[in-house]
Amino acid sequence: MTVVTRFAPSPTGFLHIGGARTALFNKLFAKHHGGQYLLRIEDTDAKRSTQEAIDAIYDALSWLGLECDEEPVSQSARRDRHAKVAQQLLDSGHAYRCYASPEELTEMRAQQKAAGQPTRYDGRWRDRAPSEAPAGVDPVIRLRAPQDGETVLEDLVQGQVTVANAQLDDMILLRSDGSPTYMLSVVVDDYDMGITHVIRGDDHLTNAFRQIQIFKAMGWKTPIYGHVPLIHGPDGAKLSKRHGALGAEAYRDMGFLPEALRNYLLRLGWGHGDDEIISDEQAIAWFDGSGLGKAPARFDTAKLTALNTHYLKAADNGHLVSLITPGLEQNTGVPMDELASSRLLAGMESLKERAKTLVDLTESAALYVRGRPLVMEPKAAKILSDEPRVVLAAARNALSDLQPWTAEALENWAREYAESHHLKLGQLAQPLRAAVTGSNVSPPIFEVIAIFGRDETLSRIEDIAEST
Ligand code: GLU
Repeated sequence: MTVVTRFAPSPTGFLHIGGARTALFNKLFAKHHGGQYLLRIEDTDAKRSTQEAIDAIYDALSWLGLECDEEPVSQSARRDRHAKVAQQLLDSGHAYRCYASPEELTEMRAQQKAAGQPTRYDGRWRDRAPSEAPAGVDPVIRLRAPQDGETVLEDLVQGQVTVANAQLDDMILLRSDGSPTYMLSVVVDDYDMGITHVIRGDDHLTNAFRQIQIFKAMGWKTPIYGHVPLIHGPDGAKLSKRHGALGAEAYRDMGFLPEALRNYLLRLGWGHGDDEIISDEQAIAWFDGSGLGKAPARFDTAKLTALNTHYLKAADNGHLVSLITPGLEQNTGVPMDELASSRLLAGMESLKERAKTLVDLTESAALYVRGRPLVMEPKAAKILSDEPRVVLAAARNALSDLQPWTAEALENWAREYAESHHLKLGQLAQPLRAAVTGSNVSPPIFEVIAIFGRDETLSRIEDIAEST
């Protein structure tokens, strides 16, 4: 059997972080088994399912590297097929027409409530002859669900879960306007797409019993389900807006790398021993459906940040340059040219060591992009008072013929120069940093100066001298 999984989001305007985890689990499970991972957009709610909302899901999935293996399926495009299956169920006697009016059903529920009974459809049209159908009423089609026995779910995560069939009423499959219900659509789509395993949030656990009943009525093999507990916030309550961002794209905007978020989401509700850093290859090799926790995992931004710090350090320097270039251009208003790009690349190793997110990295990288004359940050301006300016001007002359122009040689020179001029290293290095970077914080200053090169460095020091 080839394993086929799917992610079936309903467009809401963004990819929910829990949905991203569901997509990841389904993709990994399929890849682990050498199978396929498909995408179905559950776009039957026309109001919410705008192209924009659908594109937001595609964008976020593609950013996260969770694209599907085949063309995505649109649920709304398959209405006719869903209706046909309802008709088939009707023909085989597994479904029937119900002519009960909304008023009648409201009254039925009121009576059930008053009698302290659970409110469910009482099967009033289950055994009535078609000849009793009232004229001019469009019926709904309901499943003739089993009334005795139980429906058993062997869940990959929850274990065996059983529901007495008496608790499940005859659900509507097709509404009176001929539109299929969600429950019917999901089953028909899962069957037609050849889905063998459904991993999804446990908010769908109760739906699974009803879906299994439809599968059985059609004589179709039921997929294997795995209902994963929903993600909770740090306080233990279901993750909601008040805990922070819910959309995956918000994490992109906060400067998280997709590989860090993937690794984080993977560990959220699934474990492989004590492993924290898990590569995509390891994840595929290990994600076999076991190790999924029954208790809801808590979203912890600090852990995500720690992973991001790790993945930033591990990332290719050139890749990081290209990731931050648009943001850098926007922040500095300076278009990135080849020289800035090559300086940034040279400085990236040190910059990424100090960054927690791409946002941090973009901020700290601006020093390689901003050109002369520098706008001094207030703290840098403060460093450059009269005395340090004199130190700088003298040091500039000594620097002008230093050979070679490397970080190491510059640092050695600075130590010797400071010593011979009765200065502390900081009394030389801090003004240098301020003059060359416009800031009081930077990556190791001699590395920065080495990257800028002699001419640029000397010019920046001269700018300070001239600005007195
Ligand atoms: N469309 C449903 C949702 O977004 C998922 C349905 C399913 O996975 O069966 O919650």
